[in-house]
Amino acid sequence: MSTPAQRHHELTQIIARYAEAYFTHDDPIVPDGEYDDLVKELRALEGQYPELASEVTSTVGGPLSTVFSPVRHVQSMLSLDNVFDEDELRAWSERLVKGLDGWENLRYSVEPKIDGLALSITYDAGILQQAATRGDGRVGEDVTNNVRTIHDVPHALGLVPGRLEIRGEVYLAKVDFEELNATQRARGDKEFANPRNAAAGSLRQKDPAVTAQRPLSFLAYQLVDLDGVLGLTTHGETLAQLRAWGFTVASETQSVVGAEAMISASSWFENHRHDLRYDIDGTVIKLDDLAGRELLGSTSRAPRWAIARKFPPEERSTRLLAIEVSIGRTGRATPYAVLEPVVVAGSRVAMATLHNEDQVREKDVRPGDLVIVRKAGDVIPEVVGAILDSGIERGPAWRFPSACPVCDAALERIGEESDTYCVNARCPAQQMQKIVHFASRGALDIEGLGEQRVSQLLEVGLIRDVADLFALRVEDVQALEGFGELSAKALVAAIAAVREAPLSRFLVGLGIRHVGPVAARELARAFATYDALADASLEAIEAIEGIGPVIAQSTWEYLREAETIARISTMRAHGVVLAEVLEESTLASTLAGRAVVVTGSVEGYSRDEAGAAIALRGGTSPGSVSSKTYCVVVGEAPGANKVAKARELGVPLIPASSFDELLSTGVWSATLE
Ligand code: NAD
Repeated sequence: MSTPAQRHHELTQIIARYAEAYFTHDDPIVPDGEYDDLVKELRALEGQYPELASEVTSTVGGPLSTVFSPVRHVQSMLSLDNVFDEDELRAWSERLVKGLDGWENLRYSVEPKIDGLALSITYDAGILQQAATRGDGRVGEDVTNNVRTIHDVPHALGLVPGRLEIRGEVYLAKVDFEELNATQRARGDKEFANPRNAAAGSLRQKDPAVTAQRPLSFLAYQLVDLDGVLGLTTHGETLAQLRAWGFTVASETQSVVGAEAMISASSWFENHRHDLRYDIDGTVIKLDDLAGRELLGSTSRAPRWAIARKFPPEERSTRLLAIEVSIGRTGRATPYAVLEPVVVAGSRVAMATLHNEDQVREKDVRPGDLVIVRKAGDVIPEVVGAILDSGIERGPAWRFPSACPVCDAALERIGEESDTYCVNARCPAQQMQKIVHFASRGALDIEGLGEQRVSQLLEVGLIRDVADLFALRVEDVQALEGFGELSAKALVAAIAAVREAPLSRFLVGLGIRHVGPVAARELARAFATYDALADASLEAIEAIEGIGPVIAQSTWEYLREAETIARISTMRAHGVVLAEVLEESTLASTLAGRAVVVTGSVEGYSRDEAGAAIALRGGTSPGSVSSKTYCVVVGEAPGANKVAKARELGVPLIPASSFDELLSTGVWSATLE
């Protein structure tokens, strides 16, 4: 255990190092959330031991770079104080009211906190004179020539008297960031970690010609009337004036009265953060009244009239404990990261897929590395890359195993594919996943038959294949650990109940290569019974609308395999029907009796339209998730509670891109984890 003074010393050293990497070199070492946590710890320590007070908690930015000429700001460019939840936000607004001697009905401007870098641009008599970065708050860097290349920075404002300073954020829109990184990749140059660093690195270039090639944007949010000629009294008027001069102002900005309205406006941004054109890491809330701002003033580091409400971080660092490989039903071997559990964007992450061998190589993550884990937008966590701090010894690069971790057969990469497969068709892991897939909601939807039970049934030898499920007897199941008479009966009844399920569901469940729910439905519709399909020629299958040669070939071959023939005859012997129920209406009742929850917006549908589309197919769309929910469609900006609840209950989460498929087939081919 270190003493408070030792810990304080340690923290100031680490924070200074991280700040220099971030502010001066535009190349952060750790995710922002981690940095913020260290600063929080330092502040708490200094609060408890005031004698330890350091410069770190009272200064802005990091050391200046020597590449640019220094520019002294006429008015300091400060930072913002942070709050992390609603209570802290409420407490801040109470402090504001107190500081203003009880002013009532305060108006606030609630704005996106764009993740870019602050810029000051001075205009004299309406003509752009100089542009500077924030630097250490008092002295910034002269980036005038670079700023002249930014498309939405006006070079002249028209006839405006006096000197003005416009402040705002230089940033890269998300699409522009993707494009820039694609260009970097194509050139073999290092990709940028995030839009903020890309924007900072692009603006702070020695050669303005390089900046000119970067798709930078500027968003204005403050005006300093250096000669006091404009007579503006509110922030709302300021933004309108900025707009009139041709600056871009955040169109999502909300002007609201009272603390509660301000808090809900801030939450709106949290719920819509992924819908915006640019990355935001929170909202900035400002007092609208400019005279009130004067009264409140600033500390040495930040104004009292504004606050940044930070959202929960979507990136965290954690230790990569191991890279393991899981075997899917087709034998595909997927590497995944085993992580020291970490809470990212509100949920615990202990594993993350690494997709395939090439991805692991590209990311160059190695067991033992400290890695960045990201969970944003959709709900699947991913490993972004390793934190390569200088001087740290790394373990050797990870190598894809040559043998299956389950059956020890060879793992092989086929042709040009980036996937690796276990070559043993009898691999127990494959067998298990095939049966789990057969029973899954997307296929036959056998209630109560998940991975754990399937593996138990396989282990004791009660089943070897999906067909054996139909031969299960209550007394055999009942004898297994964890089963009682009731649960055994329920399982056998659930299996019996699917004997008459539509052929299309069986075609999905059998896991024929390349046959997804859409193709399965087309095949079942065209042939109506399994026998008709099995008797069909390759040409007849290929002639069906929507069935291409690859699907036709693999279906035709599958139906002829000895194993398939045996499987089908066993199923038949146990009463499985294998016929499609053909509907007469044009809109099939694909969701009859099923509850589908839609969260977030789905492209092409309003909330009501999505509900109506489900109802037209016989389903319902309740507002909350329960164990009865068939699946949850996850659109843009989904409700975090619904997603978390679905995960807790094991209800499948499917992407909005599969909504049309769900409507037309009742099943889906893609899921979110
Ligand atoms: P800040 O980024 O939290 O807040 C101040 C800044 O917000 C302003 O300077 C401005 O650039 C920006 N901003 C965006 N939208 C705005 C709006 N609408 N109105 C007003 N300002 C707006 O504070 P900071 O002092 O600039 O930097 C601290 C931030 O940098 C923290 O988020 C921290 O996580 C990050 N940081 C990270 C590392 C790291 O190692 N990852 C190191 C240092 C700092």
